[in-house]
Amino acid sequence: MTDYFWRNLIETSLHAEEGDISCGECKSTLDQYVDLLDSGQDPILILPKLAQHLETCHCCFTEMEALLTAIHAAAPSEE
Ligand SMILES: [Zn+2]
Repeated sequence: MTDYFWRNLIETSLHAEEGDISCGECKSTLDQYVDLLDSGQDPILILPKLAQHLETCHCCFTEMEALLTAIHAAAPSEE
């Protein structure tokens, strides 16, 4: 086995740990995520951990959708 193999293995496991946030952490940053999304920015670039969590956690994804809907409902309508 080469050094490269081990370095790669260590880096992979570090990244997995880094990207692993809890639902509590997710929900505390969720309004920020929705704000970015709503202003046309890419939250995946700014909050990659959160984006990753939303991909794997249906519960938080549903909450994110609800927040997004609430923002649009609160915004003054053009009609
Ligand atoms: Zn979650």
